[in-house]
Amino acid sequence: MCSGWKHVDKGERVHFDYSDEELSFRKELKGFLDGELPVYFEFFDLPQQERFDRSMEFVKKLAARGWLTPAWPVEYGGSAHAPWQQMILSEEMIAHGEPRTGQYMNVNWIGPAIILAGTPEQKEYHLTRISNGNVVWCQGFSEPDAGSDLAALRTSAVRDGDEYVINGEKIWTSNAGVAEFCFLLARTNSEARKQEGISIFLVPTATPGVEVGDIDAVVHPGAFHHVVFTDVRVPASCRLGPENEGFTIVRKLLANERVGVARYHRAAGYLDRVAKWCDERGLLDDSSVIETLAHARVACDAARVLVYQVWDERTRGLHPDESAWVYRTAAVNAERAVSEAAFKLMGAEALVRHSHADNQFEWATTAGIAGGSYEMQLNSLARVLLGTKG
Ligand SMILES: Cc1cc2nc3c(=O)[nH]c(=O)nc-3n(C[C@H](O)[C@H](O)[C@H](O)COP(=O)(O)OP(=O)(O)OC[C@H]3O[C@@H](n4cnc5c(N)ncnc54)[C@H](O)[C@@H]3O)c2cc1C
Repeated sequence: MCSGWKHVDKGERVHFDYSDEELSFRKELKGFLDGELPVYFEFFDLPQQERFDRSMEFVKKLAARGWLTPAWPVEYGGSAHAPWQQMILSEEMIAHGEPRTGQYMNVNWIGPAIILAGTPEQKEYHLTRISNGNVVWCQGFSEPDAGSDLAALRTSAVRDGDEYVINGEKIWTSNAGVAEFCFLLARTNSEARKQEGISIFLVPTATPGVEVGDIDAVVHPGAFHHVVFTDVRVPASCRLGPENEGFTIVRKLLANERVGVARYHRAAGYLDRVAKWCDERGLLDDSSVIETLAHARVACDAARVLVYQVWDERTRGLHPDESAWVYRTAAVNAERAVSEAAFKLMGAEALVRHSHADNQFEWATTAGIAGGSYEMQLNSLARVLLGTKG
């Protein structure tokens, strides 16, 4: 069977392959994307407003074809296509510089969080807008003193009648400058164990008291923001899920974030360009060059097989925490191996600002931080393997 199928041969090797239907979907998708966007075009290189405008335009076209939320249930605006289509989409999108920009978050886990824990009204309002490509969200998790230790967050939401009053500060909030809603984590109980006093709020960023500022960053300039909440009043109906159970919901959904971005695919595509660059200079006769390229290629292929493993487990209704962490660390290693190969083989040419090598370096640098750092993924994996609680 393959819908991204897996089989084990007599030598106990695991193979994945795609069905004819999925291959023809990939072909159709690539044809559409090649017509719309150059491969490896870097959305991050565009000024924020232009990035936003182009992305909104593009995402609406995807939605019109049913390619924005294909794996969602039909009742929520999806087309209930096999989950492997989402994997193919994820790979082809990132090969074109992730033109959905922030909207990949909506599709991969903000929407699914609302499907999981939303009230009928929240589902009706938010899911339709996400699946039509009409809304940008940002994720208000990290704080100046709560990154890796997310549960240490201090932004508070205090109940006052039918409202909550929110105060605090978020940092590194991607897309906050253009987002209409913030998927916010805030503390609703400061007495409880830190993981047990957190709730989720779906906050319109236009609410009085929400202030968004830019962060000057070396990588992805214009993409990062800090968001300050000063006496922000939101109706209690903005809370997603039960009070104080936000962390449990987020933990489930962050497993989606860990496998949501097919970084290995973009890195492998870039590695092909490095190999071509070497070929054009007659360097492929040198065994050390081949070794460097092969090392990076193996890292990309390992990450691909591992994410297919996770996807396969998910389609069988399992909750592949362990393999998701293994994949995530392999994906970081793949990004880094390709970046190192480019520097090693291309020398000074790889140092040019905004060159493809420079972009690859940015992706490799942030890969080990965004969505939970490399070291924290290793810690989580160690806890699973050692059977200790985390
Ligand atoms: C591209 C990008 C996009 C992002 N977008 C968002 C966003 O939209 N919304 C949002 O909320 N946040 C976002 N972040 C922030 C990201 O989630 C945090 O940067 C990340 O969780 C790490 O937190 P920190 O920066 O506070 O680093 P710290 O937690 O201070 O960690 C610093 C270093 O110490 C190491 N370290 C910390 N604790 C341990 C430990 N217990 N064991 C071993 N090593 C440890 C870490 O691995 C890291 O190398 C983004 C970050 C990046 C790079």
